[in-house]
Amino acid sequence: MSTRSIRFRLIAWYAGLLTGVFLLLAGFMFLGLRHFLEASLLETQTRRARQIADTLLANVNHTGESYVVGEIPALYAPEINNRFIRITRQDGSVLYASGRPQDQSFDPTGLPALASAPKKELSREEKLPDNKKLLIGALNYEAADGKRYLVEVGAPTASIETMLHQLLVLAAIGLPIVLLVAIGGGYLLVGRALAPVDEIARKAEQITQHNLSERLPVARMADELERLSLSLNHMIARLEDAFSNSTRFAADASHELRTPLTVLRAELESVVADRRVPAEARETFGSMLEEVEHLIRIVEQLFALSRLDAGEAQSEWVPFDLAELVATTADQMSLLAEDKGITVSCDAKQRVTVAGDRARLKQVVVNLLDNAIKYTLDGGTVHLKVTTSNGDAVLEVADSGIGIPPEAVAHVFERFYRVDQARSRNEGGAGLGLAIVKSISTAHGGKVEVESAVGRGSRFRVNLPLARHTTRG
Ligand code: ADP
Repeated sequence: MSTRSIRFRLIAWYAGLLTGVFLLLAGFMFLGLRHFLEASLLETQTRRARQIADTLLANVNHTGESYVVGEIPALYAPEINNRFIRITRQDGSVLYASGRPQDQSFDPTGLPALASAPKKELSREEKLPDNKKLLIGALNYEAADGKRYLVEVGAPTASIETMLHQLLVLAAIGLPIVLLVAIGGGYLLVGRALAPVDEIARKAEQITQHNLSERLPVARMADELERLSLSLNHMIARLEDAFSNSTRFAADASHELRTPLTVLRAELESVVADRRVPAEARETFGSMLEEVEHLIRIVEQLFALSRLDAGEAQSEWVPFDLAELVATTADQMSLLAEDKGITVSCDAKQRVTVAGDRARLKQVVVNLLDNAIKYTLDGGTVHLKVTTSNGDAVLEVADSGIGIPPEAVAHVFERFYRVDQARSRNEGGAGLGLAIVKSISTAHGGKVEVESAVGRGSRFRVNLPLARHTTRG
């Protein structure tokens, strides 16, 4: 997942926000709980001070102070319970003070007496080392005989701190778990939310000039995604219109040019054949005739291409034997090869049935074979082969010709592309032959590739899907 992707950024935001909320909540809970627990601990101490006063000091005139001093350890065991209890007389002398607690958390002798006795009740905190505190509830009590005593009961906050510490540990363990769940959940949720975008992108990749009538899926969610897919579909519709206009224009233009050019050719042919015309003029007309023939070839090729662009009429498709088509075409063109002393061999004995437009597929063979002969030096060889491979019919045209430079290989199927303009033109080529091969192959659901090495030759390979009921002989 890229760090710039929407998925990553959404999850990062989401996880960050969640961490913030979690920390804030944990902080509030921590402080709130500490406040609540401390208040409740203090409340208990004050209550205990009152209890001591009410039960032991109320009748001190009858029981005597020594009774009080003896009863407190028996009733409250402050050292064992880690409590602090101190009773001070009005004159400041101490009646009773508890000893060191068992956990040694504070030193009772070091705790200062109150500067002035509170009117009734008072609570205070004494700081202990290690950031600990002792919470003390104090009560100014008047016994029945009118004597006043200050009763102080205290407890350290250590147990609260331990509990809060455990809470912190729990939060520290919980946070990564919450984060992991959030990230995992976020990943799935964002993935689901973005699935329609993926779908649109996948479909958009498949739309080419050949299937411009197809449309992207529209996510019916009444949101930006639905608007996006609708807008893209409108754009594709406009492109389809523009494309079919330009295809129609090219088809119409080449169609319109054909008739006057054919007339021109016929007239030039008759002038060239006319013995009454001076030889010099006939030569000029002869080269004009060549140019016109070149023009006619280009116009024919453009017409063929624009018809292919406009879409194949599949009604003309029939199943036929590609091997037989290749063998007869090679045979028909062997004269052309013989003129250059090129040997054409053909390995197409096995029946290979494909479904398609026979005339157009013949054009594929003609164009490839014509190129192979054109771009092979005298005395070279051209080999044709028809086989099957992985459910495809494969036609190979290999020559021992001049080859194609590596930088040109990627372009040879482009319209009007010629590796060596002058050479190609001399051979009567306009750079449309391979474009037609590609268009016809694509229209048949196939593809065409080339491997070539300069000076060693080229191998063109056309893959076409086999007809569904292939019979081999
Ligand atoms: P053209 O009609 O000019 O031959 P093509 O579209 O048939 O146009 O081919 C495009 C270019 O590819 C040609 O100009 C030629 O340079 C190169 N080419 C095609 N076939 C071969 C081949 N068999 N060997 C070498 N070069 C080839």
